[in-house]
Amino acid sequence: MKTASFRFYEELNDFLPEKKHKKSFSYRFSGSPSVKDAIEAIGVPHSEVDLILVNGESVTFSHHLSEKDNVSVYPVFESLDISPVNRLRENPLRDTRFILDVHLGKLAKYLRMAGFDTLYERHYSDSEIVDISRNEKRIILTRDVGILKYKTVTHGYWIRSQDPVEQFREVIRHFDLYNQFQPFQRCMHCNGVIEKASKSQVIQHLKPKTRQYYNDFYRCARCNKIYWKGSHVKRMQELMNSIEKDK
Ligand SMILES: [Zn+2]
Repeated sequence: MKTASFRFYEELNDFLPEKKHKKSFSYRFSGSPSVKDAIEAIGVPHSEVDLILVNGESVTFSHHLSEKDNVSVYPVFESLDISPVNRLRENPLRDTRFILDVHLGKLAKYLRMAGFDTLYERHYSDSEIVDISRNEKRIILTRDVGILKYKTVTHGYWIRSQDPVEQFREVIRHFDLYNQFQPFQRCMHCNGVIEKASKSQVIQHLKPKTRQYYNDFYRCARCNKIYWKGSHVKRMQELMNSIEKDK
């Protein structure tokens, strides 16, 4: 058996048992596995990793481990400038689109409310999610670490919180999306694009009080759901404002 020393930084520690948090530990291996395989064997999905240094030099996932290698592993930190070293991905996904696993229905609504193109269907299987992510360049958000271990996953994030509002905050913070809110762009129910609609176009579908008090309307081009800036919108706006203050 050979031994290498590993240290994981920042939120990558969430995948490790407490005794390995934020310190170097020994990893025993035989042969010459890729550093990617070693990282996943330790329990960290490769899609969460953005930078690997071996003995101080940046390497790619396919680098083969050698006896006594000193390995530092950093998470995806799009907002930091690490340009002099070798990032594992050529480009972060700047046109931020998501696909969510089946446990994240409420988070899907929040993200759509904020205008992000967000796919979510209760019937998606793990492999469907992985395929759609690759074909449509969508970031996978999941509570299930297993999905992120598929070889073909390049952009994924494991959601830590179990509370939907906290999950929303977490995503906005992690991907630095504070300046990308565009409310009234996406239908919360079907992810369709919503468009302005005149009152006369929607009036026959409105309840009497809505007819009386509101004049600006939007309609989903896909499922025809009608939106207006009522009290629920005000609450959502307050939520988004509170998240902007987290900056
Ligand atoms: Zn819709």
